[in-house]
Amino acid sequence: MDHTEAANSNSNSTSPSSSSSPPPPLPPAVVLRPCAACKILRRRCAENCVLAPYFPPTERAKFKIAHRVFGASKIIKFLQELPESQRADAVSSMVYEASARIRDPVYGCAGAICHLQKQANELQAQLAKAQAELVNMQCQQAMPAS
Ligand SMILES: [Zn+2]
Repeated sequence: MDHTEAANSNSNSTSPSSSSSPPPPLPPAVVLRPCAACKILRRRCAENCVLAPYFPPTERAKFKIAHRVFGASKIIKFLQELPESQRADAVSSMVYEASARIRDPVYGCAGAICHLQKQANELQAQLAKAQAELVNMQCQQAMPAS
């Protein structure tokens, strides 16, 4: 059915479909199809599938988690509203938020943030205490040596 041009023209980069955009170094050049999302949704993974670059076939769990919490249509809508440069970050954020929500259905990400803030406060207090002790010790060492 599909003529996968990407498979045999990856070294000789003269793809006829792309319009004057130079090949960016970072995004995945070879998009494997069907992507994990389309596989799970049991639909055809089209050439312009928004999800394919971010949910390769090897990462089914990633899509499952995000789909369970946000729903595929919301994920697609959200990605379509974003410039391509921000989509990868948006996907990892959604996956992170979704897994936090599954772990902690009540507080989700907010719970994790709260916990980390508490931890940071405790560590800052510990650091301040250690610095005060250090200054104290330096004073004690400096005094008798004269
Ligand atoms: Zn797809």
